[in-house]
Amino acid sequence: MTKTLFDIDLSIIPPERLNEAQARDELARLSAEISEHDKRYYQQDAPTVSDAEYDALRLRNAAIEQRFPQLVREDSPSKRVGAAPVEAFGKVEHKIPMLSLDNAFTREDVEDFLDRIRRFLNLPGDEEIELVCELKADGLSFSARYEKGVLVRGATRGDGVVGENITENLKKVLPSTLVGNFPEILEVRGEVFMARTDFEALNKSREAKGEKLFANPRNAAAGSLRQLDPAVTASRNLSYSLYGWGEVSDSFFDGVSTLKECLEKLSSFGLSIMHLWRATPDGWRVYTTSRIDDLISMYNLHCSIRFKIPYDVDGMVYKVNSLELQKRMISTSRAPRWAIAHKFPAEQAKTVVEAIDIQVGRTGALTPVARLKPITVGGVVVSNATLHNEDEIARKDIHIGDVVTIQRAGDVIPQVVEVDKSQRPSNARKFHFPESCPECGSLAIREPGEAVRRCTGGLTCPAQSRERLRHFVSRDAFDIEGLGEKQIEAFWSEKLIAEPADIFHLHRHAAALKTREGWGEKSVGNLMAAIDARRNIGLERFIYALGIRHVGETTARLLARNYGNYDAWVRAMEAAGDTASTAYQELCAIDGIGEKVASEITGFFREPHNRTVLDALAREVRVKDAEAVASNSPVAGKTVVFTGTLTRMTRSEAKARAESLGAKVAGSVSAKTDFVVAGEDAGSKAKKAKELGVNILSEEEWLELIRG
Ligand code: AMP
Ligand code: ZN
Repeated sequence: MTKTLFDIDLSIIPPERLNEAQARDELARLSAEISEHDKRYYQQDAPTVSDAEYDALRLRNAAIEQRFPQLVREDSPSKRVGAAPVEAFGKVEHKIPMLSLDNAFTREDVEDFLDRIRRFLNLPGDEEIELVCELKADGLSFSARYEKGVLVRGATRGDGVVGENITENLKKVLPSTLVGNFPEILEVRGEVFMARTDFEALNKSREAKGEKLFANPRNAAAGSLRQLDPAVTASRNLSYSLYGWGEVSDSFFDGVSTLKECLEKLSSFGLSIMHLWRATPDGWRVYTTSRIDDLISMYNLHCSIRFKIPYDVDGMVYKVNSLELQKRMISTSRAPRWAIAHKFPAEQAKTVVEAIDIQVGRTGALTPVARLKPITVGGVVVSNATLHNEDEIARKDIHIGDVVTIQRAGDVIPQVVEVDKSQRPSNARKFHFPESCPECGSLAIREPGEAVRRCTGGLTCPAQSRERLRHFVSRDAFDIEGLGEKQIEAFWSEKLIAEPADIFHLHRHAAALKTREGWGEKSVGNLMAAIDARRNIGLERFIYALGIRHVGETTARLLARNYGNYDAWVRAMEAAGDTASTAYQELCAIDGIGEKVASEITGFFREPHNRTVLDALAREVRVKDAEAVASNSPVAGKTVVFTGTLTRMTRSEAKARAESLGAKVAGSVSAKTDFVVAGEDAGSKAKKAKELGVNILSEEEWLELIRG
């Protein structure tokens, strides 16, 4: 610790007046002091300070960190959620991202998948591609890192790039040491799940104790794994299967060239790997085939016996077996190109529509919801189904009182498939869609060409402001532990919070909160800590959390990557309000952002109220810069346009490769373009590049450049 010249008591200096050296000392002192209090509070049940004093320490810590982000300590209290028997979930960065999977629903989708691969790699149409076929288990994905054969770290998928640290919990599910000839570093990836019978037994015992029930086995598995107390994890009957790997030592690939061989290798280390339920006649551990008919019959077989499999399986996954080909098909930021999930069809059931209600969403959309006579579909009780919009009700001719077929697929909201008109009762009533908002009474209008009717009340509409807040704290946005939809709803209706920034002022109401039903010192303390923990937030989460229409996670990530930091993004979005500006052109030129999205974003920024909300929020949190991908490549951060016919690679391959090296690929040439890669017969884009003086490269030169 650096000594200050005069021995002054730093704790009385307000955060905004500390200099950097003092701030460093203060953060060290606060960290030690807070963790001491945590120990007394959580482990010894003997706190020595009041909650208010404790909160003040944490707030001071957060305020100093906000001013001096470079000083945030590894062991900072802001990185801990309360203090629990195990170090509460820290963050684990996945050096190799954990991705999702693209979906197929029909045989045609699977054929398209294979065609896409052939096109991407420029293979002949009849080229056989060998695929691994395995079950898609419906659980929680994890990554586990073994070093020298010892399990040293476990993590959830999180947002794919950063997950939660669940090391201690995973040790209760996976072997803690490996056997056989394992490589020095081995990060394995798989799914943790719970058998349906265990799920039912667990829920029964929870019900008896008056505890909240889990909605399905997957949630139960997730809830059991994301436990601060690993003893709880151990008490639940969890299983796991591996389907892949992350970072591994090179020696892992010695003597193997296929996915199948890698999986078998994992199995030889004493780990359990994903396999088919029905073993094939010659006892394959990992099933491969290059015939689509084989895939489909394997799929049909497993679909028909899915209820006999003890745990939930929501489809099959097909993956390119050759590691060489996988490598060439660089993954998108969301999913690998070399794999697809062939989903089982949704489960269906018949029930009665008892009423139709209108819900108002965060963008003002009026969504009709069918209130159903409760029915069990695929093990879950369903009592609501979405009806999408008024046209949908008309098209399906749904009356109140009708008997309908509903279906449920995975996590999505159940839907009404069709009406059984033969069972329509004589008193069935037609539904009249309201022309005003049921929550605020404002006119609800349908823009020409739009299927959705929207409330025009904007933020004066309570439903819209409430929904925005709910979105703000949701899992992929700020994800504040202990601040779910229910609490938001309650705090909002009691006027404790009206806009996102208010969440960060909740500590002012800590005393009042503690007197609430079901809340005590500890839970309020935990909530405050969870809120503080989110004062540092990544740019893409931040953008996503704003809930701008059409700006989902993918778009938020594109924006974050493209603009890099919060200030640059805000400045650019303001400038882009003028559609003649270069800022606007640049926004539209981002691959994946069209005019429609661009106009929603600039519209958001033009609205003064949104700016006030945004500024207030920005004062409360520190928005971390977007991480540059592969920043050591010569094209990282550069904007590239491909034009003309490429001969050495397909356009998609070129684009994927460039993006994986951190370049931005744009569709049109502007002054912001760094390189135009011109293939054969390059036309107007090359011409424009010449006019603008942009660097034009041949395909060969480009390949040379990225080879570094
Ligand atoms: P989704 O849940 O739609 O994002 O699908 C991707 C997830 O499926 C992965 O993150 C895994 O957790 C899970 N999964 C289950 N079985 C498999 C499998 N055999 N191969 C790959 N992923 C699987
Ligand atoms: Zn309204």
